[in-house]
Amino acid sequence: MTRLFLRFCLTLLLMLGLTNCARETIIVQEVVCPQPYAVAPPCPSPSDKNLVSVPPKATAIKPRPISDKPLIIIDPGHGGKDLGAVSLSKPVYQEKNLNLASARLLEGFLKNQGYRTIMTRSDDSFLTLEERAELAKAKKGQLFISIHYNSAPSRNAEGIEVFYFDSDKEKERTQDSKAMAQAVLDKVIAATGAASRGVKHGNYSVIRNTTSMPAILIEGGFMTNEKEMEKLKDPQYLKKLTLGMAQGIDQYVQSKRKEKK
Ligand SMILES: [Zn+2]
Repeated sequence: MTRLFLRFCLTLLLMLGLTNCARETIIVQEVVCPQPYAVAPPCPSPSDKNLVSVPPKATAIKPRPISDKPLIIIDPGHGGKDLGAVSLSKPVYQEKNLNLASARLLEGFLKNQGYRTIMTRSDDSFLTLEERAELAKAKKGQLFISIHYNSAPSRNAEGIEVFYFDSDKEKERTQDSKAMAQAVLDKVIAATGAASRGVKHGNYSVIRNTTSMPAILIEGGFMTNEKEMEKLKDPQYLKKLTLGMAQGIDQYVQSKRKEKK
């Protein structure tokens, strides 16, 4: 898989004479997650804005328009000294790594769909919750998704839930966040067959303080449920899950566009 991916990147490099994909490869190799999560995200397609930012040669393909799709901030929860949830069975999996691996996959899928993305962290660094929201606003993000995995005292707790912040002062943002949460939940459940715990209000700092954009927080499954953890260890399952997230975000964006027409 990794060899195939490298060959694909090399071919792209030779064809386009660009370096972004190589950079992507290096980042992938630096993944600090446990082995099953060292999954390479899909290589950005040639239509990716970053790739075409290099001046084209005289005979090169004509420049493509810059994507008019919204800038999406992807927030892999926890990081550094903050491990987040941990699995009960050994080897012990840490939520911070699972979040980062998922965020990278989501980033790849979104880029392939023409979205611009920024990650609040792209390695195992620690950021406060306030720093995450500040970064999202400073970068002028237009949508925000925070990725987490769950834990509970009961080992039977299972399923996926998506949170949005309910604010009387920000009616439109609340409505938009709720619509995005529902679209993401629907697609993720369809993609994985996991149990749905629904769309819920959540008073979490990152979705409360990202005041200038619709924001959601997804809990993608319970690390304390042995059956669910087994699924989460499988890179193929994680791909389905994150592809579902990307499809949900895209569906929300498309429906907003139709509303405006
Ligand atoms: Zn978490």
